[in-house]
Amino acid sequence: MPLTQDQLDEITQLRGTARETLRATVPGMEAHLYTAHSVLDHGFIRVIDYMGDDAAICQAARVSYGKGTKSVQNDEGLIRYLMRHWHSTPFEMCELKLHVKLPVFVARQWIRHRTANVNEYSARYSILDREFYIPAPDDLAAQSVINNQGRGDVLEGEEAARVLEILKSDSTRAYDNYEAMISQDGPNGTQQAGLARELARMNLPANIYTQWYWKVDLHNLFHFLRLRADAHAQYEIRVYAEAMCKVVADWVPFAYKAFEDYRLGAVILSAQMVDGLRRMLAGGEVTQETSGLSAREWREFEGAIGGASAEN
Ligand SMILES: Cc1cc2nc3c(=O)[nH]c(=O)nc-3n(C[C@H](O)[C@H](O)[C@H](O)COP(=O)(O)OP(=O)(O)OC[C@H]3O[C@@H](n4cnc5c(N)ncnc54)[C@H](O)[C@@H]3O)c2cc1C
Repeated sequence: MPLTQDQLDEITQLRGTARETLRATVPGMEAHLYTAHSVLDHGFIRVIDYMGDDAAICQAARVSYGKGTKSVQNDEGLIRYLMRHWHSTPFEMCELKLHVKLPVFVARQWIRHRTANVNEYSARYSILDREFYIPAPDDLAAQSVINNQGRGDVLEGEEAARVLEILKSDSTRAYDNYEAMISQDGPNGTQQAGLARELARMNLPANIYTQWYWKVDLHNLFHFLRLRADAHAQYEIRVYAEAMCKVVADWVPFAYKAFEDYRLGAVILSAQMVDGLRRMLAGGEVTQETSGLSAREWREFEGAIGGASAEN
């Protein structure tokens, strides 16, 4: 676990201080509060705060004075209807605040999601920890030969060892030099100014860890998860998204199930794909040439309909 004993003690103390509230709480989420869930070798996500629950989504959709709940089945049906028909604003009534520790190159992908509020650890003010992401052997893969934006087979043997050695030694050397540059200890016990932290950090590699507080509403969180829990997302951000999916499933189970069914596990078919599928279902023969789809779209179409032969 990437936390110090002091940090773990602070979390235990927070979890030992219960407060009474009139606000909606969710038992599954109370169990997550403050606790760090490990991701990658030194990273984590932890829930710092949350607002709302499944009922809050229905309450907003009905603009209700009270709980807004007719019955649990009604709530689930309404949430599924809202998700299916892209009626998104009721989902914005729920909020989640996370503390995330992540490598800088993952943070660069993550920060592209502009609809969250972010406050990052200041490497101008503070000294960064000596913590670098070094992939586990199974995650050390070669460049994909079919997808420029992906990875292929796992590296093995000497090649894997060579790459790991480069990653480790470069990280160690860069951090040693970072410490040397900011050091105020001069030769023979003298004092020196030392380089400003805001400048010294520029020499650190992108696998060093950073941290931030990240607050987002449920609608935009689902958008993030749709893109980043997807198989096409880079593994190193996908594992964070997958950890978040588990938390969201415990927080708003109806909304999360609807998200799984209508977004995460759903596919979008273009007009030409729908036309091709209709012709296939009517027993017609459809090929890439007669479908009006490009070769790449045709492959995606085949993937979407589950490998069923498009030439039946
Ligand atoms: C597999 C994958 C590969 C990618 N590859 C690249 C790449 O090669 N290069 C690259 O630069 N990026 C890349 N991205 C990042 C991608 O282009 C988006 O920037 C990122 O996914 C954030 O999505 P978003 O803008 O929809 O999210 P958010 O910023 O959270 O926005 C959510 C939605 O709000 C709306 N919105 C937010 N801000 C604005 C605005 N200013 N104007 C209008 N509408 C707005 C849009 O509807 C948007 O979809 C990649 C993403 C993925 C998932």
